[in-house]
Amino acid sequence: MNSIGHFVSNEHWPGTTSRVASITNPATGGEIGKVTLASKADVDSIVQTAADALPAWAATPPAKRAMVMFEFRDLLKKHTDELAEMLSKEHGKTIPDAKGEVARGIEVVEFACGIPHLLKGEYSEAVSSNVDSFSVRQPVGVVAGITPFNFPAMVPLWMYPVAIACGNTFVLKPSEKDPSVVMRIAELLVEAGLPAGVFNVVNGDKEAVDALLDHPLVEAVSFVGSTTIGEYIYSRSTANGKRVQALCGAKNHLVVMPDADMEQVTDALIGSAYGSAGERCMAISAAVPVGEETADRLVEALIPRIQALKVAPYTDPSSELGPVISKQSFDRIHSYIDEGLDKGAKLVVDGRNVNLQGYEDGYFIGGCLFDHVTTDMSIYKDEIFGPVLSVVRAGSYDEAVDMINAHEYGNGTAIFTRDGDAARDFWARIRVGMVGVNVPIPVPVAYHSFGGWKRSLFGDHHIHGMEGVRFYTRLKTMTTRWPSGIRTGAEFHFTGGKDV
Ligand code: NAD
Repeated sequence: MNSIGHFVSNEHWPGTTSRVASITNPATGGEIGKVTLASKADVDSIVQTAADALPAWAATPPAKRAMVMFEFRDLLKKHTDELAEMLSKEHGKTIPDAKGEVARGIEVVEFACGIPHLLKGEYSEAVSSNVDSFSVRQPVGVVAGITPFNFPAMVPLWMYPVAIACGNTFVLKPSEKDPSVVMRIAELLVEAGLPAGVFNVVNGDKEAVDALLDHPLVEAVSFVGSTTIGEYIYSRSTANGKRVQALCGAKNHLVVMPDADMEQVTDALIGSAYGSAGERCMAISAAVPVGEETADRLVEALIPRIQALKVAPYTDPSSELGPVISKQSFDRIHSYIDEGLDKGAKLVVDGRNVNLQGYEDGYFIGGCLFDHVTTDMSIYKDEIFGPVLSVVRAGSYDEAVDMINAHEYGNGTAIFTRDGDAARDFWARIRVGMVGVNVPIPVPVAYHSFGGWKRSLFGDHHIHGMEGVRFYTRLKTMTTRWPSGIRTGAEFHFTGGKDV
């Protein structure tokens, strides 16, 4: 059985506590490992290690830091199959999906390879007579990352390659549900040449998280997870004077205009609503057809496709839909389905009662489709985080836009149309952070930034891309006078460049 501790000073460390949590294979419901849950004292010693490594790493030239990233990128590519297998076993997603996750993470490492260019400052010659001004970006210090179960490799990779390349040291607290892949990736960072103490992993639960949020040596916190926890992380960390970005939950709508190509829409919805069992913060969970006729055509096209989805464990190469992460998620999704039925939504495809021989205790739920969902229902309002798609019929395009803008979440959204005017109006007016036009999951590439609006993000910075560089650095601006011997006399008023 797999036994996971912590990773500190470039070595595995068991920690000092005996508190553990079970790691489960969601396809069987069986325990496959145990993860140690850190105490506050363990967190303190790991943060101290990161703080000790900071001065030398921050002083390492960016080009040298980039060399580690180049090596790291090659190692991630070389080990993709191994990493995908590891994460699928604990998460349950299909192998192609797991490989895709690693590939998207590698893109961020590639972005971080360009750090010498990204950290270039600004220089103004002669802002006044003999006075020049320039700005540089310096590392913030020790950064903590707290990440969710649904992308155990990719979401941490959104954070630490950029943070480390910027000259910070990092303490990652991964999800306790699928922590193994991060531990293997930590070993790859050592192989890539990262000095000891620059990247550390502490495993744990609320106790470890709170210790990070309260630690005076932690300067910044990157969080990705649910909105309830994200809001808590944001308020506790900011109360402690830390910089925070907390990327949170979502309810993503896909608007289907009457002129949309229905085959393209159906393909898009099948992948974006049911891929990864709907456990993506960018999953589409509300389809919004405009007009009754569009809605009828959409539902008719979706039903056979959802019924045909292959529900199977990741070990079956033909699997399209794996299990959800835990018994708790399985029960929560079932209770949402019950609530939807109670409130009068029509369950036109019922994915409950999956029966897979040999996997009877696994957390499998087949694709579910609700029609005639209204905006007052909990299946519309809440993030279900499972393979459940709701069709919410809109009478007009404006009604669709108003519906999305009124929703408390604003992570991603998409419109499918052949009408350029509608598409442009949509992306301009919609109050959502990431928008797709005929693209169902508009996850930005690594050199752009990922982040939602409204209650999908607390804090000012999106993640990776230039927003990531800004989050992990502080701006410093110098004003210098050379030659230094020029006398101006005492100045008692505040002069600007033009006055001198
Ligand atoms: P979660 O909020 O339960 O857990 C996230 C992290 O917070 C984990 O490391 C966990 O150990 C920690 N945590 C949990 N409870 C805590 C508590 N009471 N105090 C302190 N820390 C605590 O989220 P999850 O279930 O692992 O992941 C799913 C959620 O993540 C979904 O809501 C999904 O939308 C969201 N998510 C958002 C994005 C995004 O970019 N917006 C990306 C991926 C996932």
